Parts: sequence; C-alpha cells; structure tokens
Amino acid sequence: MKQYDVIIIGAGIAGASIASEIGADRSVLLLEAEEHPGYHSTGRSAAFWTESYGGPMVQPLTSASRAFLEKPPADFSDMPFLGPRGAVNIGRDEDLHLADQFLADFADSGLNMDRWSREQLLSLVPDLKPAWQHAVYEPDCRDIDVAALHAAYLRNAKRQGVELLCRARSARS
Ligand SMILES: Cc1cc2nc3c(=O)[nH]c(=O)nc-3n(C[C@H](O)[C@H](O)[C@H](O)COP(=O)(O)OP(=O)(O)OC[C@H]3O[C@@H](n4cnc5c(N)ncnc54)[C@H](O)[C@@H]3O)c2cc1C
Repeated sequence: MKQYDVIIIGAGIAGASIASEIGADRSVLLLEAEEHPGYHSTGRSAAFWTESYGGPMVQPLTSASRAFLEKPPADFSDMPFLGPRGAVNIGRDEDLHLADQFLADFADSGLNMDRWSREQLLSLVPDLKPAWQHAVYEPDCRDIDVAALHAAYLRNAKRQGVELLCRARSARS
C-alpha cells in the first residue's frame, strides 16, 4: 500500500490551498468525498473579499492576502483573483452605536472606512427606505474569483505531485 506524508481530507479551498502550499515538500494525498472538488462551502461562496469581516483579530490575515490575490505569481495564475466591488453597511438610528463601534474597532488598522450620510446613501440607492439612516462605506472590498482561485490551487497542487482522489469519503476508524 502506498504511503503518504500527509493526507488532507476535503478538497475545498482550505484543503486545496494547503495541498498547494505543502505539496512540493511532502507526498500528499487529497481526499474528496464528492465527485469533484468545490462542491460544498467553496462552491457556495458569495465571493466577497472584505477585510473587516471577522473583526480586528482576523483583519491582518485578510489584508496580508491582498497582494497575492491582486498579483499572483505568474506561474500560479496569469490573472488577478480580485475585482472591484466596495461595500456599504447600513443601519437604523438605533444602530448608530454599532457603526461607532465598527469604526472604532478598525481605527488603527489602516482600513479605508468612511461614515456616510443618508444623502450619500441615497445617491447610491435612491429608493432606500427612510429607516436606513446611517452607513459605513468600505471602498476597498473586492469580489474574489473563488472558482479561479480554487482551480489554481488544485492545478498547482497537482503540479507539485499531490494526488487527488474523489468519491473518497474518509471514515472514522
Ligand atoms: C452561502 C455561503 C456564502 C459564503 N460567502 C462567502 C464570502 O462572500 N466570502 C468569504 O470569504 N467566504 C464566504 N463563505 C465562506 C467560505 O465559502 C468558506 O469559509 C470556505 O469555502 C470553506 O472552505 P473549506 O475548504 O473549509 O470547506 P468546503 O468548501 O466545504 O470543503 C470541504 C470539503 O471537504 C469534503 N469532505 C467533508 N468531509 C469529508 C470526508 N469525511 N472525507 C472526504 N472529504 C470530505 C467536502 O465534500 C468538501 O468538498 C460563504 C459560505 C457559504 C456557505
């Protein structure tokens, strides 16, 4: 029976990226229960890349991924994985303290976040209901091409010699 240094269970974005990263140094088997990789969460992602998601503890990790995703190495992908988007977080009067907290949480992060007035909101969404009075705009949010990124990780893993086995659900022994 063939032996591997590492067996990774699940070929979603997590498993595929780990396989891609470690495949050059170790023999790796990537096990996927479904007929093809990317069937579950990875295939359902809304494909939104936002640095504030997860809070200030997670943000440095997300921000650190930006350079790679915007300009991946040529042998990994000849296309960027991020595209323009931006995000507006909206709230009612009673949510104002949450907007304040949100801005305070990221005050030292260097993230681009602007408080927007109702008038600014209406310039973007003219029919917005009157209840939505407050907004925080995050211009640097991006779309992420999840399918392309996932495919690039799988491609790179394969190039490194990682073996992918689909229809192979691991079971507890
Ligand atoms: C509706 C939705 C929207 C989302 N939107 C965003 C977004 O906008 N931005 C963002 O950053 N994140 C988003 N996410 C989160 C993101 O998609 C997930 O964090 C990410 O895809 C998780 O990847 P994963 O590889 O851990 O899991 P998965 O993609 O679920 O991969 C796990 C894999 O493991 C396999 N597996 C499970 N058990 C076994 C077993 N016993 N043996 C073999 N294989 C097994 C599964 O078949 C699956 O393919 C969203 C998630 C959902 C569900």
